[in-house]
Amino acid sequence: MIPPTMQTTIFTAPGRVEVRTIPMPEPTDRQVLVQVKACAICTWEQRFYKGSKPEDYPFRGGHEASGVVVAKGPNALCDAQVGDPVCLEIMVRCGQCHYCRRGMDNLCLNDRGGALPGQPWGPGGMSDYVLVDDYMVYRALGGQDFAELALAEPVSCVARGIRRTPLAFGDTAVVQGAGVMGLLHLQLLSRRGVRVIVAEPDPIRRGHAAALGAACAVDPLSDDLVKCVHGHTDGRGAEAVFFTAGGVPAIRSAIPALAKGGWLMLYGSVHPKGDLPVDPNDIHYRELNITGTFSHDKESFREAVALLNERLVDVAPFISERVPFPQVDYAMQRAMAMDTYRVVVEFA
Ligand SMILES: [Zn+2]
Ligand SMILES: [Zn+2]
Repeated sequence: MIPPTMQTTIFTAPGRVEVRTIPMPEPTDRQVLVQVKACAICTWEQRFYKGSKPEDYPFRGGHEASGVVVAKGPNALCDAQVGDPVCLEIMVRCGQCHYCRRGMDNLCLNDRGGALPGQPWGPGGMSDYVLVDDYMVYRALGGQDFAELALAEPVSCVARGIRRTPLAFGDTAVVQGAGVMGLLHLQLLSRRGVRVIVAEPDPIRRGHAAALGAACAVDPLSDDLVKCVHGHTDGRGAEAVFFTAGGVPAIRSAIPALAKGGWLMLYGSVHPKGDLPVDPNDIHYRELNITGTFSHDKESFREAVALLNERLVDVAPFISERVPFPQVDYAMQRAMAMDTYRVVVEFA
């Protein structure tokens, strides 16, 4: 039975998060109602909790969610049936804007749309139920942990950045940072036959990188990254560097670590932002590719769900703590702590 109301998490101001009871929406047309089972807390939600721009509030948070289909609108195109477990690609992709039509739906101009009537904007995954459009629903095979299925979203973001580089078997890549995103890069790159060198100042996190198969884990603050990379590549450098953390100093140190024709992929954003002086002749003569990747697109989300369904990626080590809903304030505080990877809010 679907209850007449649902509970949803609203970020109202910096450091303020509350759970509100709102009417249960009914799926119409191509919508799908999902009972949420798990919602992981990403750096995006952390930014709202820490303090974002005033116009960002109030915000209905939670974009890494999994659950079970409980009702489908009459025209929903969705292979998941009522009762099936699903991963949710919960960010709005309008399908109509210039970027959606160019196959860059990760850059959709309308990604802040889709709010429930009378409710603030935001994906709203940190709720016991969520109303989504059919294209957001990806069927899981079943038998998996819902907390792991909720991590399809970060896996899809990583898959997209890697797909944009032309890495070949036997290539070498550097991953900067050994947080969740860095370690996901390590796993996915290793699957592609790429040797990975991880740069991470924290010795415990370097240990995790070594345990997950890094060829080498260096401390960027005391070790010479370029020397290490050259040592592994006959002095050529890495075919790609994936920046996930470390700010402008890390990005600056990445450029000399690249081989000719190499790719620098800015996966992470930099807060506060800084200037990045780059020698144009270095880009010209060495044919460097300096670019970024933002969010996920439909193809990378499909890849992520396939990786989880086929158990080709192991996200279990990244789940540090499970917090029962509605303890969202405690969950946010734990998510911000340095000793946690992903904190996952779980629903009954
Ligand atoms: Zn995320
Ligand atoms: Zn769009």
